[in-house]
Amino acid sequence: MSPVPAWSESRTAVVTGGGSGIGRAISLRLAAEGAAVAVWDLDADSARATAAAIEDAGGGAIGLGVDVADRPRVDEAVAEVRAQLGPATILVNNAGISPFERFLSISRESLVRVLAVNLVGTFDCCQAVAPDMIDARWGRIVNISSSSAQVGNALQVHYAASKAGVIGLTRSLARELGPKGITVNTIPPSFVDTPTLRGSAEKGFLGPGAEEHVKTTPVRRMGQPEDIASACAYLARDEAGFITGQVVGVNGGRTIC
Ligand code: NAP
Repeated sequence: MSPVPAWSESRTAVVTGGGSGIGRAISLRLAAEGAAVAVWDLDADSARATAAAIEDAGGGAIGLGVDVADRPRVDEAVAEVRAQLGPATILVNNAGISPFERFLSISRESLVRVLAVNLVGTFDCCQAVAPDMIDARWGRIVNISSSSAQVGNALQVHYAASKAGVIGLTRSLARELGPKGITVNTIPPSFVDTPTLRGSAEKGFLGPGAEEHVKTTPVRRMGQPEDIASACAYLARDEAGFITGQVVGVNGGRTIC
């Protein structure tokens, strides 16, 4: 028996924040499944490095410097992707910032930036890419939210609020775009081993530390970026077309609800 192909025709994916951590793993995985991948990141060099890794493995990719909070640049990048790889019909909104700050110390500037990147950036990327999906009558959007939106997190009121917004956006967009052949789902990770998580742990923001978190995780290990990437790749496949508007927990059982 031959394996079920991910897609019946060639597909182009955009992955935001693809230069590092979870976004890098998602980019590599979608490329391994056969998609051409446009890797976007605030840091153009890291985006190009992920794209180069895909090309070294025999896949097709481009890396672009894109701040998802900069709508004109997002629109420009969608056009670049269309010209170089074809219209994008898979979008993974992964770019995010996750500062830890006491509630009373959160400045207006910090609040606005967190919302601009995590929530408005997700909204804008969906709105910029959706026309190509509507034309194709097929699309897959996966938004990376956070378990902080489900269970809350001290020192991350702005971050958790932005990610809760991503969950509401996902559910509503799924209802609106479903009739056009487009699914929209969200994965809220928890405690995935990435540079950002390690940085937060080193600064003491994760409480008792990695070993204690692992002890209270039912599967008794930290998440790896590839855990999120494999779920994301499944949601992007043709065969996942009946899954939409869902919050797909990939967290080792840390939040069971
Ligand atoms: P990461 O390693 O820091 O990766 C995030 C990437 O997004 C970085 O390459 C970063 O670029 C990029 N980025 C930041 N702001 C951007 C912007 N305005 N435009 C475009 N790219 C931008 O973090 P991660 O842990 O993989 O997190 C990925 C996503 O998962 C985030 O949305 C995060 O909130 C979510 N998440 C992670 C965890 C976890 O345990 N790791 C848990 C819950 C949710 P620079 O490095 O240049 O800033």
